[in-house]
Order: sequence, then structure tokens, then C-alpha cells
Amino acid sequence: MSPRRWEDRAACREIGTEVFHPTGRGADFEADIAAAKAVCHGLCPVRRQCLALALELEGTADRYSRDGIWGGLTGPERAALRPAA
Ligand code: SF4
Repeated sequence: MSPRRWEDRAACREIGTEVFHPTGRGADFEADIAAAKAVCHGLCPVRRQCLALALELEGTADRYSRDGIWGGLTGPERAALRPAA
């Protein structure tokens, strides 16, 4: 069981984290992002909790949390949700 109980219901648990951290370029990169977002938005029952955690961690030194798709959004998309400093 994960420390956060909602993580046990995350759709990405069975898929693997690499899907949510695309490293390609160009069209492949965009396709990988779209595939990850489809899982988050279409299959995951805990997207809101995941997004809230990402926004919380992005205010810390946890670099890993600033990369990849969390809560169905990219890092720049999440940054746009954060209030201006
Ligand atoms: S919303 Fe978060 S927990 Fe759910 S599949 Fe996407 S990355 Fe995983």
C-alpha cells in the first residue's frame, strides 16, 4: 500500500511511470504527451488528488515532481495554474 491511499487507485500504477515522463522530440513527444493525458483524463479516478499533490510538490525542492504529466497536465500547464509569486 502506498503512503497516500488514493495512489493505490491511480491508473498509472499498472502502466509504468515512463509513459508519464516522455523524452522524445517533435511529433513523437507530442503523441507521448497525448497518450499520457488520455490515461489521466479518461481512466484515472484520482486525477484531482494527483494534480493537487503535483502543485504542492512543485513548491518544494522535489525536482522529479516538476517533470512529466501529473494530474493530466504538463509542467508548464501546471505552472500556469500557480499564482504569480
Ligand atoms: S492523474 Fe496522476 S495518478 Fe492518475 S494516471 Fe495521471 S499521473 Fe497517474
